[in-house]
This record gives sequence, structure tokens and C-alpha cells, in this order.
Amino acid sequence: MAQSAWQDHWTACDYSKNEVKTKHRQLIVLDLNGTLIKRGAKNSDRSRTGYARPHLSNFLQFILNNFAVMVWSSAQPFSVNNMLQVLMNEQQKRFVRVWDRRFCDIDGYYFGKAQTTKDLLKITSGYSLADSPHRNVYDTYRGYLGVASEMKDHWTLENIVLVDDSETKAVRQKENHVHVSSFEDLRHDDELLKLQFYLTKYVDSKDKYPNLVDYLKEHPWPEFRDCVSSEPPSASEQ
Ligand SMILES: [Mg+2]
Repeated sequence: MAQSAWQDHWTACDYSKNEVKTKHRQLIVLDLNGTLIKRGAKNSDRSRTGYARPHLSNFLQFILNNFAVMVWSSAQPFSVNNMLQVLMNEQQKRFVRVWDRRFCDIDGYYFGKAQTTKDLLKITSGYSLADSPHRNVYDTYRGYLGVASEMKDHWTLENIVLVDDSETKAVRQKENHVHVSSFEDLRHDDELLKLQFYLTKYVDSKDKYPNLVDYLKEHPWPEFRDCVSSEPPSASEQ
């Protein structure tokens, strides 16, 4: 896609309007590649768009109904845009933010295979694209800055959880991290089903745990994931 084309589209996606309107007090930050999708090889027919992880649509429907949802990928902005358009077109319109590589801390060259990390303090501090050292890697960037500035005090490290298949990307705030397995096998993968089940249990016990991070501490995700069968949550829970 030509740069001007994706930029024009990107500019039109002002997720901050969703953020301002959200009634939810818990923010789930979703990684893309390895967590929700599996990107194809560079020379494959599917280009770099990739494949949706099994149960993705139901999972998104559930969390969009129960949480504020943000995407944070270390991929390039045009790749992120493409993945969202192709694999979750209608649902992505309900995200409160979409952050890409420019919002990551990058240990090395921006266009190289450098290690990246996602520091959740950027969310709590009102960080925007204008604050990023990578804000000018593309010619222009109009409109959406990746943040609704009036929501600065809405998010804290108590109510943000990062769902990511990479331990290193989440190293800044390990207590906020739900470390999911990497999506590799298209045929046998029920990770999102289990995660939906886990989050359903949190939603059902919100009175006891106002913040999802508190729930995480008392109910570690790895133990739940390894014990639970992948029975789907009941319809009333979705
Ligand atoms: Mg990943």
C-alpha cells in the first residue's frame, strides 16, 4: 500500500473518540503478532497480513464488551493498519487506542530487528506520538496522536494489563503482563478460548477485585491456563 494511502486511512481512524466515551475502568492492551495473529512469510500469498488465531472474533467481542481495549504492536504503522483492516475490520473500530512501533522503546535501529519494549508508564503519563523520538520516521502524520489527552488520569498501573506472547516486551511491568503462548499452530490452538474463560472469571468477581491487576496477582494466568480445559464460557458470559 502506498504510504499516502495508509496515512490517509490512518488519519481517519481517530480511536481517541472511543477512549473518551469508554465506560470501562480496566484497559487491556493487546499485542498482535504471535498473540492475536500469525503473520505470513514475507513472500507468501497472504503477504504480511497473516492469519487470525482461532477464536479471535469471539474473544474480541467478549473483551470489547467488558473492557477498554487497545492494540500495541511493535510492527510498522502501515503493517498494523493492514492487519487490523483485514483480520478484525469491524471490531477494530471499537478500540480505544492503536499504538505501533513508534510508541515502543527500541534498543537499536528503528528499521532493524532491534529489541523493543512496551512501557505501560507511557499510557499512564499521557504519552503521545508527539513525544516519540520516532515521530518523524514518516513524512507526515496528521490527526490521531495515539492518545486522548483528557484521559491521562484514567489509566494507572493498577488497571492496565498487557496481553503479549513476548516476555521481553513486557519486562518493564511484569505484574501487569498476561504472558500468552505464541500462536504457531493453526489447527490446535485454544489459548484465546482459555484467556476468555480466565477474564470471564474476573468479570464475575469484580466486586472482590476492582482492578484486574489485583486479580492477576491472586490468580496467576499460567496456573489457570495449564489447569483449565478449554470448555467455552457459557453464552450468558459473553
Ligand atoms: Mg508478539
